[in-house]
This record gives sequence, structure tokens and C-alpha cells, in this order.
Amino acid sequence: MLAYIGLGSNLESPEKQLPRAMQTLQQLPDIQLLRSSSLYRSQPMGMAGQPDFVNAVAKISTDLYPMELLAILQEIEQQHQRVRTEERWGPRTLDLDILLYGDLQMHTKELQIPHPGISDREFVLIPLQEIEGDLVIPGKGSLRELIDKLPAYQLTRIATPDVGAQP
Ligand code: ATP
Ligand code: CA
Ligand code: CA
Repeated sequence: MLAYIGLGSNLESPEKQLPRAMQTLQQLPDIQLLRSSSLYRSQPMGMAGQPDFVNAVAKISTDLYPMELLAILQEIEQQHQRVRTEERWGPRTLDLDILLYGDLQMHTKELQIPHPGISDREFVLIPLQEIEGDLVIPGKGSLRELIDKLPAYQLTRIATPDVGAQP
């Protein structure tokens, strides 16, 4: 199954957290890292006064079921010393979201696929476009249409990937 993972970090050297997380994904026996986007700097959502975020997306191939994949991603977040707080969209060392899992659509409490934020988050759509311009988001339309609907965006590309296959 092909899946796309969204990565984000705004604590403890985000420019290092993200490549490290990509490497971890690459090394897991049940996951093949196919492509990774550049790193992008974005303004934080929610809580004001926190550092800017660094975001990227990865394309993977996996035989894991969605809930198994989520459990592994949460383990990796823990390895990166992520501390969960009550604050939604607060600062974190690493956030790994399942953006897409094949053309699956599922809506349970633990897992929503496609990720509900996908269609209006520039820090997801622009990196996705970099690695897979022709994507169609199940239930939401083509990536191109979604990007056309974005208001003027503030995302800046800060680095090209140094692990995994280049786009
Ligand atoms: P957002 O999901 O809006 O980006 P967040 O990433 O800050 O916010 P978290 O605190 O990391 O939210 O996750 C809260 C819960 O979201 C997780 O425990 C998980 O069960 C659930 N969740 C639902 N859908 C997904 C998904 N597609 N990928 C990752 N987690 C998801
Ligand atoms: Ca998130
Ligand atoms: Ca998350």
C-alpha cells in the first residue's frame, strides 16, 4: 500500500528532527521510504508565541494496516521525546500524521484518513505537490485544485531532502 506521512517539528532543532525521523522510517522493516520532500518553514497554527514549524512529507510503501502504522508513528514520536500536552497544536519535537493511505477513507475516533487538515494546510499541500503533483485526495479533489484554493501562502523551502529517493 502507498501512504503519505506528514512530518512537523518546532522544538529541539527541527531541521535535524525531520531528517532523523525520515531515516527511522527508512530503516523500519515494514516501511519502505520512497520519496521525501524538501523541508519547509511555516507559521505555527493555534497557540501564538511558539517557534515556527519545519514541515515535510514522505511517500512510503507498507504492508501495515492503518492502525498499525499509526502505532509505529506514535512510537517514533516518543523516541523523539515528544511530550503530549492538553494544548492543541502546541509546540512539539515531532509530529507524524498519516495524510493518505492508498485511496482509503476512514473516520474513527483514533484515525481519520485522509487527514482532516490536508485540504487547507499549505505546509501539507505544497510538499505533497513537490513529490506527487498528480495526486487526487479521496473525497476532496485533486491536489492542484486544493492548492489553487489556498490563500497567498507564507511557506518557505529551506532544504532539500538528504535521505531517501529524491523527487
Ligand atoms: P492535527 O491532527 O490537527 O494535525 P495534531 O497532529 O497536533 O493535530 P495530535 O495530538 O498529534 O494532533 O494527535 C491527536 C490524535 O489524532 C492522535 O492520538 C490520533 O489518534 C488522532 N488521529 C486521527 N487521525 C489521524 C491521522 N490521520 N494521523 C495521525 N493521527 C491521527
Ligand atoms: Ca498534525
Ligand atoms: Ca499528529
